[in-house]
Order: sequence, then structure tokens, then C-alpha cells
Amino acid sequence: MSNIPSEPEFEQAYNELASTLEHSSLFERNPEYRTALKIASIPERVIQFRVLWEDDAGNAQVNRGYRVQFNSALGPYKGGLRLHPTVNLSILKFLGFEQIFKNALTGLMMGGGKGGADFDPKGKSDNEIRRFCVAFMRELSKHIGANTDVPAGDIGVSGREIGWLFGTYRKERNLFEGVLTGKGLDWGGSLIRPEATGYGLIYYVGHMIEYAGAGNWAGKRVAISGSGNVAQYAALKAIELGATVVSLSDSKGSLVAEGDGHITPEDVNAIMGIKVKRESLTSYTSSSGLKYIDGVRPWLHVGKVDVALPCATQNEVSKEEAEGLLAAGVKFVAEGSNMGCTLEAINVFEAERKEKKAESVWYAPGKAANCGGVAVSGLEMAQNSQRLQWTSEEVDQKLKDIMKTAFFQGLNTAKEYVKAEEGELPSLVAGSNIAGFVKVAKAM
Ligand code: GLU
Repeated sequence: MSNIPSEPEFEQAYNELASTLEHSSLFERNPEYRTALKIASIPERVIQFRVLWEDDAGNAQVNRGYRVQFNSALGPYKGGLRLHPTVNLSILKFLGFEQIFKNALTGLMMGGGKGGADFDPKGKSDNEIRRFCVAFMRELSKHIGANTDVPAGDIGVSGREIGWLFGTYRKERNLFEGVLTGKGLDWGGSLIRPEATGYGLIYYVGHMIEYAGAGNWAGKRVAISGSGNVAQYAALKAIELGATVVSLSDSKGSLVAEGDGHITPEDVNAIMGIKVKRESLTSYTSSSGLKYIDGVRPWLHVGKVDVALPCATQNEVSKEEAEGLLAAGVKFVAEGSNMGCTLEAINVFEAERKEKKAESVWYAPGKAANCGGVAVSGLEMAQNSQRLQWTSEEVDQKLKDIMKTAFFQGLNTAKEYVKAEEGELPSLVAGSNIAGFVKVAKAM
């Protein structure tokens, strides 16, 4: 019996990792790693604070702010800030925990952390969001630094918010340093950072497709959920590589292709404009054969698909939706979001992978498939330290190399530690978890 209150999201993330380690030969071969897991499951430090700000009517408003400094064995704490009404300590602990092993998989020297607040940017004016960001950073600036803890964006925090946060840090601390990533290009940001998570996801899945002997991206039908930064750039890169994207979504509903319809780059560009204004997809009418379905996620409404990419938020694929995707012929599922699939959905995919061997579905967890975002954040930190800016080609090439390494690390580690039958595709969830964990455990 534990004396701490239940933390369902954190427990889910912990159990997902722990069970894959448990079902491999890792602890048998390295019994000391059991203790390492116990140690790694407790954040080094959790900072909680009050964020007091003023709304446009001059009234006092208050929110809860957090930063979970989870693990610094590999480098400064690194991970995004999430602004969403659902934010609480359980969610930030799950995200921070995932971030430790994700960051390890990039091969860069970054520890893991996460932060945010239960502030809802929806329905707020630009000035209200700015005042919130200033108030939030006034407190957070006491606890972070370029060599201590380097936050970035996550849900509800994009380049504009990073600008307000950075400006406040600079004034509060009288320091110009690479304390945040995802910055604007004029003051230390990296080219390709906005695109990085989506592009990296597509590069990663490209390796899955190739390894499984299923050709390449050309001609694949792809269901994507979400319509934020990750979904937008995943869609654009998939289209560029010849795939057909058949859905996008937001918290209110889904935009799905009918008949020959498909998402075009023009649709994505128009949706980028809608999302900047914090409006929903309901306000979008397309000429490319899409229909809007209110109140649903896309998975059971997309028809035949080869690839499914959850890119919205945690737990957005249920057991039933996983079964529906299998019935729709899905062969590759990879998370652009963090913990996009429920544990039950992962079990459906993993059971199918074992059962059907080579022609089965293959699932990749977010900590491997979406590590491109934080990887380019790491490259931004490197550029800031050098006081240089690399070209897009240079950053994109490094991103491609990192995604390839993340894929093969997971694959080869699964081959080394997890028993499999002849012809079975290696478990990327087990392999990525073990590879990330071992790196952190050794450093600890
Ligand atoms: N929020 C992103 C993630 O979940 C990026 C974090 C970062 O760049 O630090 O990985």
C-alpha cells in the first residue's frame, strides 16, 4: 500500500516501462538495475507554485504551475511546458518520466523533465496569454538555466509563448542564454525545430516500413489525429513522400476523407491559420473531399489505412479503436503524441505482432517515434553554446541520423534482450524502453 495519492497517468507510464523490462532478460543479467528503476521512478525535484495574473477586465486570476525535474543523469533537465486545463502532477510526472528515456534515445546529453500549468489558453486573449506567461516565468526563472533545466513547448505552448517566456527570463535573471528551446530564429532558435517532431516521426516510420519489407511511404494511406504542430508537419512530410493522408482531428471532432478525398498541403496550411487563432476544425470547409464528424476521434471513421499516427494527446487510442484499426488493415502504428495509446491498445497491437509474425501490425512508442522534437531542441542547445546557427540542411540531416539511430537502437536492443520466434518483428516498445533505460541506469 502506498501512502501517496493515486497518479493514474504516471502509474500507466511507469507500468508500461517496468513491465517491458520485467519481461526481458535485463534484470536477470543486471540485477542492480532493479534498484536503478526504483530510484529513477522518483523525480529528483518537483517545484509547484502559484501563478497569479490579471485578465483583460482587471480581475485577479490564479493557476497552478509546476516543473518536474525528473532525472539529470545525462544532462540538464529537458522537456516541454504544457498549458492545458487537464494538467496536474500525475500528467506532468508521466510526461517527465517518458522524457527521461526519450531524451536518452536521441543520443544527446539531456536529462528529463516536464512542466506546465492548468491554464487554458482557449478563450483567452493574446494579452491574457502573454500576462500569464510573464507571471509563470517570474517564478520558474528561479529554478532553471541553460545548464540546469531547459524547458520548451508542448501542448498550448508554441514559438510565441516561448518568446514571452524567454523575454521574461532574460529580464528577471539579467542573462541571455539558451534557457529555452523552440525560440524564434532571430534570437537563437534552430531551423527545423517547429517541423522536427512531425518530420522525425515520418523518418522513423520510414525505417519501420523499409525494415518490414513494405516498400516506402509512397502510396501508403495514413490516418493522423491532432491538428497541432506535430500533426501538421507529419502530414506535410508524409504527403511530400507520396503518402495519402486521410484524417486530422482536434478535441471537438475529426476531419476525414470521403471517397477519393484526402488532406492536401493547402488544407494543412489553412488549418495552421485556424489553430493559431485557437479556433476549432468546425470552422474549416475544404474543397478536397473531407467531411467533419463531430465528437469523434478519427480511428473508426477512416476506412482502409496502412499507417496510424496518433499526434494529439495521451490515451487517444482505446482497445476498441486499436481493434478497429486492425480490421481496417493497419500495418504501422507510431505515436507522435506522448503515450498516445492506452495500455490495452498497445496489448492489442503487441499480441497481433506476435501472432501474425511478419505481416502483422508493428507499434512504435512515442518515446522513440516522437523523439525528433526534443532531439532538435538538443541541437538548438548545441548551437546556442557555440553561438552559431546551422543551416536547415544540416539540422534536417542530423535529425534523420538521430531518428535512424533511435529506430535501430530499439530494434537491436529488442533482439538482444527479448525472446522472439522465428519471423517475428522485434518489439519496438520493449527495445526502446530497455535501450533508453540502460543508458540512464549506467549514467546514474
Ligand atoms: N514537448 C516535446 C516532447 O514531448 C519537446 C520537448 C523539448 O523540446 O524539450 O518531447
